[in-house]
Amino acid sequence: MSVTVRVPAKVNVQLAVGGARPDGFHDLANVFLAVGLYDEVTATPADELRITCEGPDAGQVPLDRTNLAARAAIALAARHGLAPDVHLHIAKDIPVAGGMAGGSADAAGALLACDTLWGTNAARDELLDICAELGSDVPFSLVGGAALGTGRGERLRALEVGGTFHWVFAVADGGLSTPAVYGEFDRLSEGVRVPEPVASQELLDALAKGDAAALAATVSNDLQPAALSLFPSLTDTLDAGRAAGALAALVSGSGPTTAFLTRDAEAAGAVAQALLASGTCRTARVAPSPAPGATVL
Ligand code: ATP
Repeated sequence: MSVTVRVPAKVNVQLAVGGARPDGFHDLANVFLAVGLYDEVTATPADELRITCEGPDAGQVPLDRTNLAARAAIALAARHGLAPDVHLHIAKDIPVAGGMAGGSADAAGALLACDTLWGTNAARDELLDICAELGSDVPFSLVGGAALGTGRGERLRALEVGGTFHWVFAVADGGLSTPAVYGEFDRLSEGVRVPEPVASQELLDALAKGDAAALAATVSNDLQPAALSLFPSLTDTLDAGRAAGALAALVSGSGPTTAFLTRDAEAAGAVAQALLASGTCRTARVAPSPAPGATVL
């Protein structure tokens, strides 16, 4: 018997970053939106923990116990006195190291798949606790939809979304390490007073109304200057998407994937074509939002 779980990628429509805390982390006001690009994690009983991965970026995914999916299985097994003897197969469609929480998605997917396979029936709160231990973005991968994350981003409040938003994601050649981008953020903000991160009410209203133009006017990402400083050619990608009619263009999370909000599905197709033709990205993917969280298929 096997259990397969489908898990979405995310885009941050607002990523407000506070100054570095004494523990090195940053307080965030992080508005997550799950988007319709998915990984699938399949859990099958095995003699020992084993990870396999397929997909265009599979070569960049670690297949040892550092894989976030493996860490999720180990964490759940430890809490229930089980051995994590499971084969986890990841069908990877979310860009790796792209700022779209692909590893976090696999962690949430593996957790739900193992919980179902092993019959551990963990309560939702226990699953969310394990997710928060694994990483700041992991709880959101489990719940999906839209949510405001505070603290390190792991304390979530579900948000209302009043319609479908159509996105294009331009996948860059190469990745950016999230810690390196935060390091660059700290370097760029040296000597500057970084304000407390707060969610924008205009942005939350735009989400609730399903109003793409209003959302486009309010999206923001405080990590964008740092990502552009480390990966300057992303400016060309952002310009190409804007020129093709995107309502908004921004770096997704810590990048280097760039995200383009469009008026409707047709406009998304046109922006994707133009981005591909511009030669400023490796590939361009269209995806609607919001998308559901981790789901057993
Ligand atoms: P985020 O948006 O949460 O900052 P990301 O999308 O930028 O993350 P990931 O794709 O999650 O980045 O991967 C970051 C690094 O984590 C990879 O370079 C890889 O070494 C490691 N990693 C561990 N587990 C996984 C996994 N299941 N899938 C992809 N990468 C993983």
